[in-house]
Amino acid sequence: MRKHTMGLLAMAAASTLVLSACGSAEVGGEPDGGGTATAGGDGGGDGITIGIKYDQPGLGLQDGAEYTGFDVDVARYVANELGYSEDQITFKETPSANREAMLQNGDVDMIFATYSITDDRKEVIDFAGPYFIAGQDLLVAADNTDITGPEDLEGKNLCSVTGSTSAEKIKTDYAEGVQLLERPGYAECVTALSAGQVDAVTTDDIILAGLAAANGDGNLKVVGAPFSEEQYGVGLPKDSDQCEAINEAITKMIDDGAWEEAVATNTEGADYTPNADLNPPKPADCA
Ligand code: GLU
Repeated sequence: MRKHTMGLLAMAAASTLVLSACGSAEVGGEPDGGGTATAGGDGGGDGITIGIKYDQPGLGLQDGAEYTGFDVDVARYVANELGYSEDQITFKETPSANREAMLQNGDVDMIFATYSITDDRKEVIDFAGPYFIAGQDLLVAADNTDITGPEDLEGKNLCSVTGSTSAEKIKTDYAEGVQLLERPGYAECVTALSAGQVDAVTTDDIILAGLAAANGDGNLKVVGAPFSEEQYGVGLPKDSDQCEAINEAITKMIDDGAWEEAVATNTEGADYTPNADLNPPKPADCA
């Protein structure tokens, strides 16, 4: 039923290549839509480079020279409040496994990429926010009836993303009898699910809902039994002095209705309602 290990390895290698081939939309890019999203570039000194996801419909999605999604909308709003105009923003892809390093290396100035605030990550970077709270869930075939929550995972093949809290939680809490396939991005996991190579994909419910709406033709469904609390923060380099200003911008976005509108427009067509007990969240005190 499942493909041989060789096949999976070959696909993993291929997708890694694809990822690195189109992983950056930064300055110096080709003029014809190679992903450059800035007029001035960040070489001018007064622009800002923001890390987002490129393959998460409804959250962070690159479509040619266009960037859409809730994370992108919050990023634009916050950058604007910090004094950056649209043409001073450069978006750059920050895959889950690379986020801390990209902040530490100065590859990006801040990250809005379904980036959960965790104590481990706080050891090497700072967070502003949270600006949204999601929960880890499972994506399965629409006709699947035997996976109704994480307690049903024994003996199942799962896919998640390297460097995510989602993969981490499976390894620490549900390791028994679960076969975990790790890929660089969730879109690759959906491909594996659609091909029958895994029984489920696991990550945050809002990500899975967007992927199901974009990819499934109704063939995929989110189980709807969240088993974690994922607080989406704005990733910043350690000892950043921007946390307060970003939290003020997030609070303003929530108060003036733009946050709610961004949630609504970016989840339209997806079967998803944010947890109303947790959202909108109040940004935490800065360290
Ligand atoms: N929110 C989780 C995390 O930060 C999962 C989603 C992601 O990989 O971006 O790891």
